[in-house]
Parts: sequence; structure tokens; C-alpha cells
Amino acid sequence: MEIHEKKKGRMEQLKVDCARCSGLCCTALFFSAMDGFSENKIAGKPCTKLQNNYRCEIHNELEKRNMKGCIGYDCFGAGKHVTQFIYKGKTWQTSKEQAKEIFDVFVIIFQLYQIRYFLEESKIIIPAKGLWSDIQNLINENETLCNSIPQIILDIDMEIYRNKVNIILKQVCECVIKCFKSSGNNRFTEFFGKSFKKRDMSGLDLSMKLLIAANFDSCIFNGSIFLGTDTRDANFSNADLREAVFLTQGQINSAKGNRNTKLPSHLDYPVTWK
Ligand code: SF4
Repeated sequence: MEIHEKKKGRMEQLKVDCARCSGLCCTALFFSAMDGFSENKIAGKPCTKLQNNYRCEIHNELEKRNMKGCIGYDCFGAGKHVTQFIYKGKTWQTSKEQAKEIFDVFVIIFQLYQIRYFLEESKIIIPAKGLWSDIQNLINENETLCNSIPQIILDIDMEIYRNKVNIILKQVCECVIKCFKSSGNNRFTEFFGKSFKKRDMSGLDLSMKLLIAANFDSCIFNGSIFLGTDTRDANFSNADLREAVFLTQGQINSAKGNRNTKLPSHLDYPVTWK
């Protein structure tokens, strides 16, 4: 069953662009070594591996050092937007007095970009066609918020905004799941470390599920929903994920796979997938 319209959505534009960012994810955010980052770090402090040119000193060794947090992180291009569009090239290094504001704005823009990614995908999901005009209105609002001045961005109540969008995203998921009602796949509820080799996982709602270290070698995922799914070390070798719903680059980066894995056209193969 075809889930996505053939035309490419604008999700292509919502990609990490580290070359045009100022290392915001490696500075603005709190993270811990336990979650696969280089160290325990408070928000607003640069990672000790971040160089003055905003490049990671150990970028080519992240896999070898098992830094799943760094590998899996995906800002959807929010860092570029904050650095280039909102602050016109000014950074937390060149405008130290504005550093806190820049970090706070980045945290909100990151969330808005993540939501925009799901909205842009929703707009090419065929079973949710009846919702497309409502979705477009939310995309327009999201773009307006992202293009606002910092004072307006900092005043956004993200909880209220997120709840409003979630109502529509939930409806999109219901439209997709309805198409697979008779597949019987809903009997799968636990995934952590289990093997599903060669199974048809189509139409499964995997939202917020832990797929950590599960084996999905040669599985099919037409219309399977990946909203907030934890895919760390899940094996998708030879699997067909082309029609998976709400799958992100971050989820792919933190999973395992190979060049026979079929990905949605807007996602890239991690360099570690041979
Ligand atoms: S190790 Fe590299 S990618 Fe990870 S947070 Fe530090 S600078 Fe960023």
C-alpha cells in the first residue's frame, strides 16, 4: 500500500547543516556520558571536544568510541536557522553577552523544527489527505514563529503549542493505522532485544516504543509509525523502511543497517552502514 505521495515533501530542507551552524547542539544542551555523549555537561557550556571553528575534534571517531548520543543527534537544521537567519552569523562566541539568549532561542527553534518535520511529512501522507489543509495552516504558523524575533520566540508556550499540534498528528496516525486494521500486527507489543526477522511489521504503531537492540533484519515497515521510537542498536539490515511514517535521521543514525536497507528518499545512509 502506498502511504506517501510520490512528490518529495519539503522535509529535504529540514536537515542538519553543521557547516552553517555554530556548534549549538554541542554547547547549548545538557547531556551525559551515560546517554552516549562524550562527557557529562551542563547546558550552555561547550563540549570539550568542540573546536573554535565549531567542528568536533573527534568527529571521525564517534562510532569507534561508541558515542551514540552524538551520532544520533539531529537538529533538523534548527542550528543553521538560528545562526544564519535569526542572528545573521553572530554566535555565542562572537557575541558573548547574547550567548544565553542564543542558546534559549535554539532550544525552542529545535522543538519547532522537529514539529515542522512531522507536519511536512503529514502533508504527503495519503491516508491523511482529509487533514492536509489543517496541516498546511499549522505549517504556516510554525514558519511564522520560526521567523520571529528572539523576544517573540522566547515567549512561545511550547506546551500549549505542542498539545495543539499533537491533536492533528494523532489523527494522522489514526488514519494510517486504520488502513492496516486487519493485518493482525497489533499483537506485537514488546520489542526490546527481540527478533522479528523477515516479519511484515506494516501498520504497527511503534510510537514511543523501545526497539533497542531488536532484530528487524529483512522486515517490511509500510505505514509503521515511528513517532518518538527509541531505535538505538535496532538492526534494520535488509529491511524496507521506505513507507515508514515519522522516521527521522536521528533514529536511523542510532540504529544498525546496511546498504540493502531501503530508506525513505529524504533520509541518508549513515556512513557506518556498509
Ligand atoms: S563529542 Fe563532538 S559531536 Fe559530541 S558533543 Fe562533543 S563536539 Fe559535539
